Amino acid sequence: MRTTVGIIGGGPAGLLLARLLHRTGIDCVVLESRARAYVEQRQRAGMLEQGTVDALRECGAADRLDAEGLIHHGIELRFERERHRIDFPVLTGGRTVTIYAQTEIVKDLIALQLAEGPPLLFEAEALAVEKPESQAPVVRFVHEGREQMLSCDYVVGCDGSHGIAQGAFPAEVSCVYAHDYPYSWLGILADVPPSCEELIYARGPGGFALHSMRSPSVSRLYLQVPNGTDVKDWPDDRIWDELSARFAIDGDWRLERGPITSKSVTPMRSCVHEPMCHGRLFLAGDAAHIVPPTGAKGLNLAVSDVRVLARCFAEFHRTGSTQLLDHYSELCLERVWQATRFSYDMTRMLHTQPNGDVFDRRMQLARLRRITASRHAAAELAANYTGLPLAL
Ligand SMILES: Cc1cc2nc3c(=O)[nH]c(=O)nc-3n(C[C@H](O)[C@H](O)[C@H](O)COP(=O)(O)OP(=O)(O)OC[C@H]3O[C@@H](n4cnc5c(N)ncnc54)[C@H](O)[C@@H]3O)c2cc1C
Repeated sequence: MRTTVGIIGGGPAGLLLARLLHRTGIDCVVLESRARAYVEQRQRAGMLEQGTVDALRECGAADRLDAEGLIHHGIELRFERERHRIDFPVLTGGRTVTIYAQTEIVKDLIALQLAEGPPLLFEAEALAVEKPESQAPVVRFVHEGREQMLSCDYVVGCDGSHGIAQGAFPAEVSCVYAHDYPYSWLGILADVPPSCEELIYARGPGGFALHSMRSPSVSRLYLQVPNGTDVKDWPDDRIWDELSARFAIDGDWRLERGPITSKSVTPMRSCVHEPMCHGRLFLAGDAAHIVPPTGAKGLNLAVSDVRVLARCFAEFHRTGSTQLLDHYSELCLERVWQATRFSYDMTRMLHTQPNGDVFDRRMQLARLRRITASRHAAAELAANYTGLPLAL
């Protein structure tokens, strides 16, 4: 097989890149190791920055998003049994965010891709990227029980944080900056209407909790738990009791309970690979960087990477110049580091440190009080949360 751009991974980054390239007349092939049903059911993100919504519209994948997405104008911070609203349009000059599940984005993009091409192969696992420094890199992969070769002009690793594309970077050109957090998130999906109209970020007595939603009838909630937590130790009643305690305020508010349909534990990690390209191999999305989900940045960063990369490829296709492609890594990394910093700050401000002392807790409170008392500090949070501009 031969193509111009070989894309490894059919998550949001790989699928969106394929659509954006298709629209500029650049052919590509997407290799996805998992089955379609698995990819479409994998529960992950749900908060979209305006730029992410714009990118999905640009490639014709936003009909359902426009009909079903929930536009949010702010978030709530809860601590010390008080509630404080951060109003995004007022603080950012009109920006909002949209709630629409990553599973639905993936379904929309897969449906378009299968209807209009270019090729998307499921259960096609990439084994290695060979000769990334050459003019003709090759992806070796297994599909239908046979090992095959995909010859490309360029390869893009959109294969997530456990993918193989990173491994094709020689150790001497690659730097990995990583931080592991001493806690995880227990996430649930519940068939119950959300108890609030906007997301609630709570710093409660037992740690952090987040109330989010996927639709008017499905709630998504998270609890800070110790690393190594087993979901079996968290029966439904224990989860609801702990969530209720962490969201409790002085005043009238109640967390509605309902049947829990999914439970999972996610460790928290920050990691950035530099550079994001080597020769003719590029990394995008979680393959290049991961952030703890507190800032809701992972999916949005994946989308901003491929928007930049698609523009670099379009410029090359139009003019033959590789000037933008050569600067892909620098064009992305400033935004990546700012999102990494924001996610780190939000995480540290809202989670209980397992060995934290009273001083740590007072510092967290001082940060939260600063945000709720100062328009300048609140505007800084709102600007980062709703998304910083693209470099290109
Ligand atoms: C609990 C949770 C909540 C989150 N909440 C948010 C949020 O609110 N907002 C936000 O922006 N982000 C959030 N994120 C992060 C977001 O889900 C990820 O950043 C996003 O999925 C990244 O997309 P991606 O396409 O880069 O990678 P992935 O979604 O990981 O896709 C990579 C794809 O590559 C495939 N693959 C892997 N190896 C191979 C191989 N060898 N060959 C072929 N295919 C391969 C995988 O099967 C997968 O389909 C959350 C994450 C979690 C876990």
